[in-house]
Amino acid sequence: MNTQTQPVPRLGIIGGGQLGKMLCQAASELGIEVTVLDPDPHAPASSVCTHHIVADFKDKSAYEALSEKADVITYEREDLDDDLLNLLQSKGLKVFPDPKILHVIQDKGKQKQFFVDNDIPTSRFELCDTPSAEALASFGYPLVQKARCGGFDGRGVSVIKDDSQVDKTLNTPSILEECVDIQTELAIMVARSQDGACVAYPTVEMDMDSEGNILDMLTVPAPISEEEAKQIETMGCTIAQALNLVGVLSVEIFKDTNGDIWVNEVSSRTHNSGHYTIEACVTSQFQQHLRAILGLPLGSTQLLSPAVMVNLLGSAPEGDTVVHGLDQVLELPNVSIHLYGKKKVSPGRKMGHSVVIGSSIEEAKRTAQTVKQQLKISGEQHV
Ligand code: ADP
Repeated sequence: MNTQTQPVPRLGIIGGGQLGKMLCQAASELGIEVTVLDPDPHAPASSVCTHHIVADFKDKSAYEALSEKADVITYEREDLDDDLLNLLQSKGLKVFPDPKILHVIQDKGKQKQFFVDNDIPTSRFELCDTPSAEALASFGYPLVQKARCGGFDGRGVSVIKDDSQVDKTLNTPSILEECVDIQTELAIMVARSQDGACVAYPTVEMDMDSEGNILDMLTVPAPISEEEAKQIETMGCTIAQALNLVGVLSVEIFKDTNGDIWVNEVSSRTHNSGHYTIEACVTSQFQQHLRAILGLPLGSTQLLSPAVMVNLLGSAPEGDTVVHGLDQVLELPNVSIHLYGKKKVSPGRKMGHSVVIGSSIEEAKRTAQTVKQQLKISGEQHV
C-alpha cells in the first residue's frame, strides 16, 4: 500500500474482546478507522473502536453492514462461519487470514492432519467420533482427549492417565493424542506479509496454571539453545508459508524430556503468548498483524528487554468487576498493566495482563509475582 497515492483502508474486526481491543489501539496509532462487530455492547473493544456493530456473529445483515464500513477484514476468534467470511470476500473485501485457513485451524483434527501432511513434528493422534472406553483403551494410555471444535484455554482438553479416569472423557467428537512427557512449553509468534516475507519473534517459555491449563506466566527469551531457537523459527515460518497465511501466527510447542520439539497447536491470529511484544519488542504483534494485512512493510521483531507476562484472571465471587490493589502495583517499577474493561468477572476469566521488563528474568519474575499477589479482580453483586 502506498499511503501517498491511495486512501488509508478502513478496517473491520470481527470480535471485540481483548484481542480486538488491542488491535484497535494499534490501528489508532496508524490513523486507521476501525469498525468492530460484536454482540456485546460493552465488549472491551467498544471503548476504542470507531464504530461498533452490535450484532450476533451469525447475523448475515451485520456482515452486510460491515462490508459498507470496511475495506479489509480481520478477526480475533476461531468460531466464525466460513460462509459469512466468504460473503465479505464476494463483496470485494480483503479478508485476512483467508477463511480457508480458519477452516483448518478451527478443527483440531484438521490441524493435526495439516501438521502430518507438512512434515511438522506433532504427537501421534487419532480422530475419535465417539469416545468410548474401548476407543480410549485401543489408542493407549496415558492420552490427551481434545474436542475437535470449540475448545480454548484448556476447556475441551482432558488428560486421561489410565482406565480409572474414563469418567473424565468428554462426550464430543474428539482427537486422541499421545501424552507428551513435557519438559517445557514454548511458543513463538511469526508474521507473514502479502508478498511472502516472514519474520519471527523470539521464542517464549510458558508456565501453565496446573488446574486450568491456562497460561499463567510467560518469560522471554526462553531458556533454549540458539540451535533450538533457529529450529523453532524455521518451523513457525514453514507453517505460515504452508498455510499461505497473511498476518500473525502463534505456534504452541512442547519440548519433551528428551529435548525433542513437537508442535501442539497453532492459531492464525494475535495471541495471549504475544502480548509481551507491546512493551518488550520494537513492533507489537498487533501492529505487526495490521502491517501484514494492510500490505505495509513488516516491522522489527527485536526484543528490547527480558520480559515476563502474567495473565490477570478473575477470582470469586462472580459479579460486576471490582479491581483491588491497582494503586500498589502501579507503584512498582517496570510494570505495565492492561485491564480489558470487562464489566463482569467470573473465576478464571481473563480480565487483563501485566508485562514486567527487567534487567534479568529473575528480577522480572519476582515483580510479576508481586503483581499477581497484590492485584485482585473479583465480582460484586448489586441488588
Ligand atoms: P487449548 O487449545 O484449549 O489451549 P491445548 O491443546 O493448548 O488446548 O492444551 C492445553 C494444555 O494441555 C497444554 O498447554 C498442555 O499443558 C496440555 N496438553 C495438551 N496436549 C498435550 C499432549 N499431547 N501431551 C501432554 N500435555 C498436553
